[in-house]
Amino acid sequence: MTPEPSTPLSFVSDSPESPWATYLSQVDRVVPYLGPYAKWAETLKRPKRALIVDVPIEMDDGTVRHFEGYRVQHNLSRGPGKGGVRYHPDVTLEEVMALSAWMTVKTAAVGLPFGGAKGGIRLDPKELSIKELERVTRRYTSEIGIIIGPQRDIPAPDVNTNGQIMAWMMDTYSMNVGGTATGVVTGKPIHLGGSLGRVKATGRGVFVTGREAARRLGLNLQGARIAVQGMGNVGGTAAELFVQAGGKLVAMQDHTGTVVNPAGFDAKAVLEHVKRTGGVADVAGGEKVDNEAFWDTDCDILIPAALEGQITPARAKRIKAKLVLEGANGPTLPEADDVMHERGILVVPDVICNAGGVTVSYFEWVQDFSSFFWTEDEINVRLDKIMVDALNHIWETADRHKITLRTGTFAVACERILIARQERGLYP
Ligand code: GLU
Repeated sequence: MTPEPSTPLSFVSDSPESPWATYLSQVDRVVPYLGPYAKWAETLKRPKRALIVDVPIEMDDGTVRHFEGYRVQHNLSRGPGKGGVRYHPDVTLEEVMALSAWMTVKTAAVGLPFGGAKGGIRLDPKELSIKELERVTRRYTSEIGIIIGPQRDIPAPDVNTNGQIMAWMMDTYSMNVGGTATGVVTGKPIHLGGSLGRVKATGRGVFVTGREAARRLGLNLQGARIAVQGMGNVGGTAAELFVQAGGKLVAMQDHTGTVVNPAGFDAKAVLEHVKRTGGVADVAGGEKVDNEAFWDTDCDILIPAALEGQITPARAKRIKAKLVLEGANGPTLPEADDVMHERGILVVPDVICNAGGVTVSYFEWVQDFSSFFWTEDEINVRLDKIMVDALNHIWETADRHKITLRTGTFAVACERILIARQERGLYP
């Protein structure tokens, strides 16, 4: 008798463009390369644990508002859950599931002893006062407190969250357990057990993988034209480092608009402008263009560093860059991957490209446990080495199987995850 196949999950939509659908299609593409471990692949297609929480808070005007929050632990085979918390009005359970799954792949791809997790609250932080933001963060942390912890699942910053929010999370968890637990979150301020270099680590990792990929392509960074979508922590830092290496920042896009300057923007001045005004619109030296025109920019390196689903097949046909560096999680739809592959555009996928953040989060967690803190130089040198070694290994794997770097990264990572899964065995 052949066993019944596992039933499909009831809580996912059938939208083919959802981040979860993108992730599932990426898993399907790697299964033929998993050899004997392919029989465990279904594990990757289901989150281990998903918690939905109601987050009621008192607003400054005395009314009570409820927010929807999530924490998803996609896979814990290789260690505690790890992954950020996102505050965004459009966050959904399914999106958080996909983001948690990409964390599983990412931590395994760089060999960190973590599984994958992610959290989120459906809210627009711009609509809340600082006190309301603190209350919502504390109540959310308390609600997910039943599944997080330094040995269980360690949140970190993501879109619209930062060191202050991590400080409130650490404090709330610590108050609930009755002792200071710095290791429960990473991305904390330096005085609370944070790590030097953590804020810039994701952008730095994008630069390091980009530098290596450019070297292999024979693309000189001196004079390389860079276009960046999203000038937040990730895109801003990556842009700054590429400009320091001789690159020219020729186009930028964010929620405030799109600006171009073929002669190159002053990256430092741009970052100050973004800090002051909240976006790239009206930056000095920029010519405002239509948002869709961003994808036609004459450039060598394109860095999507905003949200998911940005590189559609139609946009992929127009991209002029030779190299795409995925600072964002899930920016490329699967068919767009195919288009770029056919057009000879090299994509360094999110699951390795933006792994610098979680790598320094790992350093932070280790430093918190040992209560011994490293210098920024030590951190950056170790980060560089881990990223370069991981990328080299992925590159060899992709070359050997003649697959894209994305499927190569999934092959390296999923094998590690499924070996751990098999060795641990099925309980009971
Ligand atoms: N949110 C970041 C990411 O997507 C960092 C996660 C972490 O440091 O745990 O990789």
